[in-house]
Amino acid sequence: MNKIEHIGIAVKDLDQSCDLYAKLLGVPAYKRESVASEGVDTAFFLTGENKIELLAASAANSPVGTFIEKRGEGIHHIAFDVDDIRQEMERLKNEGFVLLSEEPKPGADNKLICFVHPKGTNGVLVELCQEIKTAADGGE
Ligand code: ZN
Repeated sequence: MNKIEHIGIAVKDLDQSCDLYAKLLGVPAYKRESVASEGVDTAFFLTGENKIELLAASAANSPVGTFIEKRGEGIHHIAFDVDDIRQEMERLKNEGFVLLSEEPKPGADNKLICFVHPKGTNGVLVELCQEIKTAADGGE
């Protein structure tokens, strides 16, 4: 795995939290994006090299909503950048980790993502993310 790509924070009210984090970090969100398949609305902040993702539930019984119900607002996941998500998923499976999906899924911010079950990682939800390369980047 490469560097931490971002830290995900679960929030109840995305508008309120966008204002709050803009004040905290001193920069506004550079992007907001809804991922309907995951039932989340997201907002991204960049401070130096660090990226923070705010997540709010956009649908009833979305995983983020369930998380907030059980554990309250707060740090939801840590995402690591990977070069080849399928290879990394295979490696983790062989190490005995439980993945939350069999295949990488499209996530926010132009990424392919996969989550690792927090039961096997000391309670930390880990996200793998691989940048989706576009033809303009010379990628696949
Ligand atoms: Zn994330």
